[in-house]
Amino acid sequence: MPLWQDQPEGRWFTRMPVTTMLNGATLAVPLHVITGRHPGPTFGIITNTHGDEFLATMAIREFVLALDTAKLKGRIVLVPVANPMATAGFGRLTPEQHGRTDLHEVYPGNARGNTTQMIAATITANVLHHVDALIDFHSGGSGGRLQARVDHNSKAPDALKQKNIAMARAFGAPFVHENEFAGAAAHYLNTRGVPAVNPEVGGCYLGPETSQHYTAMMKRGLAGMMCHLGMLEGDAKPPRQIDFDTKARRELRPKNSGYLESYYEKPEQLGQLVTSGTKLGQVVDMYTYEVIEEIVAPFDGYLFFSRYSGMVGGGTQAFALAEAAGSKWLD
Ligand SMILES: [Zn+2]
Repeated sequence: MPLWQDQPEGRWFTRMPVTTMLNGATLAVPLHVITGRHPGPTFGIITNTHGDEFLATMAIREFVLALDTAKLKGRIVLVPVANPMATAGFGRLTPEQHGRTDLHEVYPGNARGNTTQMIAATITANVLHHVDALIDFHSGGSGGRLQARVDHNSKAPDALKQKNIAMARAFGAPFVHENEFAGAAAHYLNTRGVPAVNPEVGGCYLGPETSQHYTAMMKRGLAGMMCHLGMLEGDAKPPRQIDFDTKARRELRPKNSGYLESYYEKPEQLGQLVTSGTKLGQVVDMYTYEVIEEIVAPFDGYLFFSRYSGMVGGGTQAFALAEAAGSKWLD
């Protein structure tokens, strides 16, 4: 039984100890539990699996603080910072010396593994094993990216895949994407037959208008999913969305490092059909000031990932398209 099993209606916060750190402090994973007055499902929410993907923080905070527990059916179990060590380092991964350091790749974890695995094991034991559905919230990290989709697991068996897609669609983002999930919390839950998907929304340090746009999308998305799960009253009818799998996905990565001048920096440009040959951006050599590379759409496709103007390393994903021929509209 998890330690929150007998919580009465209301809000509760605790920290789940994991191990001791070399700075002498205890490493603990935070946990919010919001219990409704009425019976219903237990909905797990994880964020900051990648430590620098913090956009969901304020959206979730506003959403759960505004919830009326008298109207809530079931319970939300929420991990606001899944990898505190990565977050403390303003980075994606756990700063440790050995083993896998990406929390997104190590579930269900190992209580006697490295620190990243111990964090995963703590979340598995106290959250994953006790939820009826889960979302693991991601967004662009410190690199300045636009995204607006919910990923679902390409390896899920068909009946479960349909449940995942229905949950992904209820979020209401422009895209749902059948993606690789190996080692992710959602993948582990899917192996246990529990629906779980990964929203991938917005990015960090995007400026006030775009941040507010995505914060509003995330709050609507959480409400839509909870209506879909029967935890809140309301209409969960999703909008028209584009569905595409990894075969239709094409990442455009500049060969050269430099300053990327991006022509696609607005949220409304995601989901637009970009025709073959369209110039999406160019890379300027920061030393000579020459344009050294143009990034061009290789086919007709829907733009689902776009990077803000700024420094890029060679090989970094700058844009990504869902090939139109391999994508389908969901009504
Ligand atoms: Zn992430």
